[in-house]
Amino acid sequence: MVLQVQDLVKRYGDFVAVDKLSFQVEQGEIFGLLGPNGAGKTTTIRVIMDIFAPDEGSVTVLGQPPSQAKGRVGYLPEERGLYRNLKVLDTLVYLAELKGVARSAARERAIELLERMQLDEWAKRKVKDLSQGMQQRLQLVASLIHDPEVLFLDEPFQGLDPVNVERVKGFVAEQHQEGKTIVLSSHQMNLVEALCDRILLMDRGRAVLYGPLEQIKREYAPNFIRVSVSHVPDGLPGVVEVEPDDGAFNLGLAEGANPQDVLRALLDREVEVRAFEVSPVPLEDIFVAVVGGAEEVNDGLA
Ligand code: ATP
Repeated sequence: MVLQVQDLVKRYGDFVAVDKLSFQVEQGEIFGLLGPNGAGKTTTIRVIMDIFAPDEGSVTVLGQPPSQAKGRVGYLPEERGLYRNLKVLDTLVYLAELKGVARSAARERAIELLERMQLDEWAKRKVKDLSQGMQQRLQLVASLIHDPEVLFLDEPFQGLDPVNVERVKGFVAEQHQEGKTIVLSSHQMNLVEALCDRILLMDRGRAVLYGPLEQIKREYAPNFIRVSVSHVPDGLPGVVEVEPDDGAFNLGLAEGANPQDVLRALLDREVEVRAFEVSPVPLEDIFVAVVGGAEEVNDGLA
């Protein structure tokens, strides 16, 4: 177990930012911490990073209290900031030395990581000469300069253009392949979908969805499929509604019905199937359904 958060409560004055939150992160996974603005993601990460102490509950990182796990953990904070007048390579070597890495080893690792992040040509330039996107990539490199076992990335894609998003995505995937456990927070669902094995969706300090992404998506699978056929025969298994739509048909399914059984039945009856689509639900829709719904309920009560 890389991370264990148990009944975590964190307040700012009277305001409860994290409210009895529990979750775990396993060795080697990419875990997504999701939620709308103000959900409590950054607060949670700051407790894990030992910046805040929990008001209640407990956190263990790599089996240790956060204060003792620091050297084995990498962190990309939400608020970015590097010394603007320091040169890129010097910045990385300096940060690595702070983490106890010997200078020559730090230099070697810095050069290697800069190459992988396509920043090597900028090694001798000052941080302030780099574009915003490059600075963010540099900060990501800085977060793992001491070769940590686990990486916490708070909004790693924030403010990046699509080219930089792809670079960072590729880099994160590469780090994962090399065995690092990665926890990232984001509200950009498409990126989370592409990267994460499991997710925790937070809203108002609480967990509202938690588990493997695949399983969550299955639970929220749409209850209809779209087929392109000349006609829809009667008695297809699990089909409760047939609606013509632009030369094709939308078939409403009973709860628990399996789209594959419908396809099989169509083929068994020798219906020519030109197209068959079970549209996956985008995580974005699940997010809006779960979080949007909760807001409506609360607003209704207010
Ligand atoms: P975002 O994506 O907007 O950063 P988040 O999910 O990371 O959101 P947090 O930054 O953890 O959320 O904030 C959770 C709640 O706690 C918010 O309502 C925020 O206004 C409040 N909050 C955060 N930091 C403080 C603070 N230092 N003092 C008072 N309230 C705070």
